[in-house]
Amino acid sequence: MKAYADAYQPDRSLQGKLRRRVVRLVHRRPLAMAPERPMISFSFDDAPATAAHTGAQLLEARGARGTYFVCGGLAGQDVPMGRCAEAADYRKLAEAGHEIACHTFSHLDCGQASADAADGEAARNTAEFARWGLPAPTTFAYPYGDVAAGPKRALGSRFSVLRALHPGLIELGADLNQAPAVGIEGPEGEARARDWMGRALRARAWLILYTHDVRDDPSPWGCTPQALTRLIDEALAAGFELATVSDAARRLGVC
Ligand SMILES: [Zn+2]
Repeated sequence: MKAYADAYQPDRSLQGKLRRRVVRLVHRRPLAMAPERPMISFSFDDAPATAAHTGAQLLEARGARGTYFVCGGLAGQDVPMGRCAEAADYRKLAEAGHEIACHTFSHLDCGQASADAADGEAARNTAEFARWGLPAPTTFAYPYGDVAAGPKRALGSRFSVLRALHPGLIELGADLNQAPAVGIEGPEGEARARDWMGRALRARAWLILYTHDVRDDPSPWGCTPQALTRLIDEALAAGFELATVSDAARRLGVC
């Protein structure tokens, strides 16, 4: 899917930079309750079959569950991170207790779309999940991490947490309509995730990690099974509470 790969180039225009700066300040929904203990969520975007299989097995073997931000329209499709999982895979994940969450239907760039288009994509994805036998998603991740003011307002009324891609911790006052997350991706991904885990422990905050494919030879947006294993084990050893994004939100009184 060429358009998908091309779209991984962010809008580098001055207008794009200004829009990204301004949108962080509008339509905010601040977290009202501080986490009592550090929490961590492992999430997978898009989500490649390797994340649905290997990623899920690694979490389940340690009694944990993950969040999969899924585009109904990408099911079974080839993307730059490998082939995406399909309806049967997502059903199996949901039955095992993982969260199947929304990433728009067609991997829409919400930084360029209208509010109506973004809202329509969320509705279409929810309908596709229902067709697959899955419950309506309650959390959302912006494709490319980008969003404009209109879509942020429209989508913010649909979901309990909307995750972006700027690194950071979720603490008292954090904007749940544009929540930070840290990528386990690229050669520095594991070290970066470990650094943010240390910060989350010290701040007693909630950290959302994300990756895409989980395989021995990962794409620039993925990680190896070994790296993911180390991070899950270290999170458990450090005393993090591991929770899906929706479970962590519920614990913080967000719904
Ligand atoms: Zn994505």
